[in-house]
Amino acid sequence: MRKSEEYVDLHLHLDGSLSPEFILERAEREGIDLGVKSAADLCPLLTANQETASLNEYLQCFEIPLQVLQSAEGLEGAAYDLVRRLSALNITYSEIRYAPGLHTRAGLSQEEAVETVNAGLQKGVKDFGVKSYAILCCMRGGEAWQNMETIELAGKYLGKGVAGADLAGAEALYGTELYQDVFTRARELGVPFTIHAGEAAGPESIRKALALGASRIGHGIAAVLDEDLMEELARREIPLEMCPLSNLQTKAVKDIKEYPLRTFLEKGIIVTVNSDNMTVSGTDVVNEFCFLEEQYGLTKQEKEMLMKNGKKAAYVAD
Ligand SMILES: [Zn+2]
Repeated sequence: MRKSEEYVDLHLHLDGSLSPEFILERAEREGIDLGVKSAADLCPLLTANQETASLNEYLQCFEIPLQVLQSAEGLEGAAYDLVRRLSALNITYSEIRYAPGLHTRAGLSQEEAVETVNAGLQKGVKDFGVKSYAILCCMRGGEAWQNMETIELAGKYLGKGVAGADLAGAEALYGTELYQDVFTRARELGVPFTIHAGEAAGPESIRKALALGASRIGHGIAAVLDEDLMEELARREIPLEMCPLSNLQTKAVKDIKEYPLRTFLEKGIIVTVNSDNMTVSGTDVVNEFCFLEEQYGLTKQEKEMLMKNGKKAAYVAD
């Protein structure tokens, strides 16, 4: 019997990947009124679709999940439950990202948020065998001191549950250059980082991310507009974390026919395929590959290359 394929997911947001059932259960336990009674009523409020106008609108789907991620129990349970669902998809390695600064509304410190997510991931690893590490996100538009604290924590917990750092949030509103200080500090601490870039802004945003020292790029769609940049990404072996359905929903690309994944592969760039947000995008990494096979004509050879790239681009070696 052929061994079933083993997947990796390198770009997966915790808050965008909670199941509706998990959210309802936590809301009930914590006395949070979400204004809905069933998972069926909740789903449309959590999920983007083809009518979603932009990344800014897409980001509104995170407000409800964040409400149940303000307690230690909620955060630990969410991390554990996500690893359980990844295991069912035959994902063997994952990097799960979240912004500790978004989980302090009810009095948790960023450090407590990091420790509880780590605990949930570790339990999940033990029970389900999916190697899972955290990536700590700084937020575009977040307070500078808060982002700096996130980076300090990434340094403190690097190799102890944390694999790296990220910059997430509204790219079109807050330019990548605003985050020079935090990523200078990340470099001093030896924390590898990825930056969401070229998703809602142009190739110059990717260039700025590279100038800050990003070792991977989240999405990177706009690189297709810049031949020299594509050449640089290939030459420097900077992986791109692409997320096809999310990229369509946020209008980073208008049509799957224009999706630059194949161009990037042809240029020799280390392209990876990921889910971004399992709930908000209504997907998972296995589904992303099926979608590419059905709608983009992804070949067997291309899929093999993408799967190999995922393992190569991981922050923690096997
Ligand atoms: Zn993302």
